[in-house]
Amino acid sequence: MPFLELTDIHKTYEDAPLLRGVTFNVERGEIACLLGPSGSGKTTLLRIIAGLETTERGRVSIEGADVTALPAHRRGVVLMFQDYALFPHRTVAQNIAFGLRMRRHSRGAIAARVAEMLALTGLEDFADRDVNVLSGGERQRVALARSLAPQPRLLLLDEPLGALDRNLRERLLEDLPVILRCVGVTAITVTHDQEEAFALSDRVILLNAGRVVQTGRPETIYDRPHNAWVARFLGLENLFPARVRHPQQVEAAFGVLDMADNAALPQPGTEGQLLIHPWGIHLEPGTVNTFTAQVTQRTFHGSYFRLTLAVNGGTLRLDIAPGQTPPAPGETIHGWIDATALRWLPA
Ligand code: ADP
Ligand code: MG
Repeated sequence: MPFLELTDIHKTYEDAPLLRGVTFNVERGEIACLLGPSGSGKTTLLRIIAGLETTERGRVSIEGADVTALPAHRRGVVLMFQDYALFPHRTVAQNIAFGLRMRRHSRGAIAARVAEMLALTGLEDFADRDVNVLSGGERQRVALARSLAPQPRLLLLDEPLGALDRNLRERLLEDLPVILRCVGVTAITVTHDQEEAFALSDRVILLNAGRVVQTGRPETIYDRPHNAWVARFLGLENLFPARVRHPQQVEAAFGVLDMADNAALPQPGTEGQLLIHPWGIHLEPGTVNTFTAQVTQRTFHGSYFRLTLAVNGGTLRLDIAPGQTPPAPGETIHGWIDATALRWLPA
């Protein structure tokens, strides 16, 4: 039995359908991530799970029990808001203790739990600080400690790293899943950023236009996107209109390409899209899936160069490590593409 089951969730605002039959499960102890563009209804979905918003149809079940009509405070679910919503002019310890006070725990039990949460989030030295004087990263950790203190059975995190600058985000991307796994809580995080979703979660649930378009392990979704929208959203840009020629061959504007044995192509003649993973593009003469291209752009990103190549019918983008000598704009390249890096996507 899945820990959380969402079945056919619908929500409409001002005649505009936002959620149109969202269905997915989350297993106990799993860190799932709802990923989708801004405005795709992620916050609304979290609010429906938490019981702060109603669904027009369908069902929310936790541990096998239908909680669709259960008020928020009886669900055992905590939602950590995007802006953290800390209580201003209170100390860190008072903020963390808040939920425990509401639940009328004893003074001793509260003190012990607060100390435990301070240690878990590395805030031992901050207990008596006013939250208003804290940095963004520290505020984020207070919000996390406050959310975990009442031992929710399900923790929902709305864009937990959205308000932080880049360096801090990178660090918390590593820290946050460690903390969540340490307490073993089942969690759903929400983000519009695919790298954040990949780094934080065991499983990604991808939303578009009010529906779930793909779910799976981050590596799997990235490797085998279901369609061109998913590929583009994940930052995969090498897409070309293509047509199946033979059971193991496709034709794109820049050439005929051999696919891998397991490519599972549809009938010859079918039109669709060809995705080329950048790791399979080799900038040296080859014998299979060869191409000729012109370098149109080269940008330096510190740990890699990004190259843009013009081929017949489109552009190829790839990153190369700075150890290699990168070709310069204007150069002509003869390269080849590894068949295992090709994916057929439906039109
Ligand atoms: P996301 O978190 O993915 O960015 P939201 O769940 O915030 O998406 O909602 C997306 C859109 O739904 C909003 O841009 C808004 O147009 C509409 N919406 C959300 N909540 C309300 C509300 N309470 N009343 C009216 N419209 C709303
Ligand atoms: Mg949102």
